Amino acid sequence: MATFKEFRNNVKPNWCPGCGDFSVQAAIQRAAANVGLEPEQLAVISGIGCSGRISGYINAYGLHGIHGRSLPIAQGVKLANRELTVIASGGDGDGFAIGMGHTVHAIRRNLDVTYIVMDNQIYGLTKGQTSPRSAEGFKTKSTPEGSIESTLSPLEIALSAGATFVAQSFSSDLKQLTALIEAGLNHKGFSLINVFSPCVTFNKVNTYDWFKENIVNLEQFPDYDPSNRIAAMTKIMETNGMVTGLIYQNKERKSYEDLAVGFKQEALSKQDLKLSRQDFDKL
Ligand code: SF4
Repeated sequence: MATFKEFRNNVKPNWCPGCGDFSVQAAIQRAAANVGLEPEQLAVISGIGCSGRISGYINAYGLHGIHGRSLPIAQGVKLANRELTVIASGGDGDGFAIGMGHTVHAIRRNLDVTYIVMDNQIYGLTKGQTSPRSAEGFKTKSTPEGSIESTLSPLEIALSAGATFVAQSFSSDLKQLTALIEAGLNHKGFSLINVFSPCVTFNKVNTYDWFKENIVNLEQFPDYDPSNRIAAMTKIMETNGMVTGLIYQNKERKSYEDLAVGFKQEALSKQDLKLSRQDFDKL
């Protein structure tokens, strides 16, 4: 069985020292090992942004896609090879701005993909502009007088769209983050894991200390029931979206794979995969 070290490769990340994305990478590698995967059973598909580089830093199948399109690619990979465990990843700009349409419909579709968003509330790769996750009044080069747009709440949107797994964590909490990614990988259906992952270079407001002061960990609420969708929405709104932990999981709703005609067939063998295009058209 592979250890987390076997999910490392020899590519040195070029993230800034202290970037939260390092811990997200480590958590993915640990979670993959903990659920018993081998590197050749995992595909990591990423979008564009600093966080999008993550697919190149993990020893697994990987594809660094185009801006906002990690989810269409990840779903295509899963549809083409249902034997693979598929992780999609990217930043809040990638997934909640240009890619938001894909995010909502991937949630509705409930295909078995784990989507990990590194949410630093700014565009880091392009040197610090306001993102959909930036707070109102947030000053950057693109909003020198402060953002006048409301802050997008991905957790509320996910629940409204029919998500079956919604979690949130903090890159500094490696134990919680690893456990949530494991839970997402084990979930049968689409899982959204939003991770507060500070950009130490361009976001001087939402720092590690700021997150530590503002995060509300669900461990504080031993009676919290993650199968209760109304309670989940209430907790997100009560905490202004700062709640961390497993916020909602619906184990009853069937995944796309369970419902789609054709998906119940046995997986294609290697011999089947050598069939010609004409043979495939007859399937
Ligand atoms: Fe991380 Fe920000 Fe540096 Fe990008 S610019 S690598 S998000 S710290």
